[in-house]
Amino acid sequence: MSNDLKASLTFPEGHSVDKVEFPVGLFINNEYSPAANGETIEVRSPANDKVIAHVPAGQPEDVDRAVEAAQKAYDTVWGERCPGRERGRLLMKLADLFEEHVEQLASIEAMDNGKAFNIAKGFDVMEAAGCLRYYGGWADKDHGKMIEVDETKMAFERHEPIGVVGQIIPWNFPILMFAWKLGPALACGNTIVIKIAETTPLSAFYATQLIAKVFPPGVVNVVTGYGNVVGAAISSHMKILKVAFTGSTAVGRTIMQAAAKSNLKPVTLELGGKSPNIIFEDADLEQAVSWAAFGLYFNAGQCCCAGSRIFVQESIYDKFLELLTEKIKGMKVAQPFQPDAFVGPATSKLQFDRISAHIQSGKDEGATVHLGGERHGTEGYFLQPTVFTDVKPTMKIAQEEIFGPVVVVQTFRDDSDIIAKANDTFYGLAAAVFSRDISHALSTAKRLHAGTVWVNCYNQLNSSVPFGGFKQSGIGRELGEAALANCAPDFIMIVRGPRDADRRSSPLTDT
Ligand code: NAD
Repeated sequence: MSNDLKASLTFPEGHSVDKVEFPVGLFINNEYSPAANGETIEVRSPANDKVIAHVPAGQPEDVDRAVEAAQKAYDTVWGERCPGRERGRLLMKLADLFEEHVEQLASIEAMDNGKAFNIAKGFDVMEAAGCLRYYGGWADKDHGKMIEVDETKMAFERHEPIGVVGQIIPWNFPILMFAWKLGPALACGNTIVIKIAETTPLSAFYATQLIAKVFPPGVVNVVTGYGNVVGAAISSHMKILKVAFTGSTAVGRTIMQAAAKSNLKPVTLELGGKSPNIIFEDADLEQAVSWAAFGLYFNAGQCCCAGSRIFVQESIYDKFLELLTEKIKGMKVAQPFQPDAFVGPATSKLQFDRISAHIQSGKDEGATVHLGGERHGTEGYFLQPTVFTDVKPTMKIAQEEIFGPVVVVQTFRDDSDIIAKANDTFYGLAAAVFSRDISHALSTAKRLHAGTVWVNCYNQLNSSVPFGGFKQSGIGRELGEAALANCAPDFIMIVRGPRDADRRSSPLTDT
């Protein structure tokens, strides 16, 4: 146990950042504090399993303190008390600070989560900044509308902030998920209590220093701790009026139950997937192979929308598999600070064990390990990029989300065969279709049960485009204008005009 509330990380020699030191206490009212009982959680780098920090194991009392701070900020300096234009200006300022600190944030992300530094820098942190800026732009543009009711009345509709909102995020894109949650909620005027993942809390803690430079105390409160303690306290809190969660479907269900049992707070859930990636025989094969490899092995397969079920039309199966194998062999599995690293380690031992168990189940159920299937190296939690063939749709590896660098490649005959196979899952987050025949690609896309279907590409996410799932992949949408609706419900005011003629003709106008 360590209670000095500081993280001190030293990066490999020759890296652009030598060292960073920053506070890691519970961030409440722009100040840092230990957990109520002083307990901490060890944070390890998955690339070598070394302990790199200790962070507070928050308690329900800590969540109460954070909620109190958020409520006070909402009542005094935020919400309706801070005009949209000012909220937008502050969000954009935070976006600028994220960009100024891109080297530090990306270095922390690489060490804590294990993802390649270059990807963390070019994608995770820059997208996080872009997301904050995008919602900064929205803050004074959510104008609402006027609806004519009849000749005597009209209704004004506008989005009003909710108040104190709770947010719970996972470990696969720590700083990006942080921004996805903060951006729309702050733009709409809410104050926040956010729980960051206990395995990867460090980039968000670093970012709290930037938040303290921009936002008044209590507007953003960051707590860490175990899911079944801090996460549960947030989802069941009587004074938190909404909860947004990204993570597993199982925990999403628990959160929804806790929300229903407490104050019936609305939930938005961004959950798992088992996304089909469909390659028709007329696809540009090289393109399809590149996107398919990227669609699965990006972030070591730890993406909710990973294209983990590849379906190839029978006539091109052998050629596709040959090209895919070549492509995957060219992807570098390496320590995060190596310049050409692409596939990093599983983010924790727990995750490594879960993925390994899935690989074992594929072997036990009789699928063929076409590529990989073992641990990579001896240091850290790296796994070989793995491809299974001869897979039956009923096998666990074809049904369950693996959340690691493991893909199953299957075949299909024709349109009706692929639609049945692709939709045979209780998930519905994403899908992709590859074909040169755009009409065929679009008509297929429309028949897939997925919140997002990419055509001739994969993993394309953008702050301005809504993202979310069908079926058990989630409720509500993140990103884009759609996310504002989750963060600010409609307020309606119906106004009656005092017209003489109407007074005479309508009994309602005389009451
Ligand atoms: P998880 O769902 O357990 O954890 C996500 C977040 O929820 C963490 O912050 C965790 O502390 C919190 N949490 C855990 N239990 C909670 C509870 N009872 N109440 C409230 N919050 C709670 O995910 P995990 O165990 O870290 O990973 C398990 C699986 O989840 C993965 O293998 C993957 O399938 C899936 N996952 C999906 C996403 C996604 O982006 N949709 C992200 C991470 C993990």
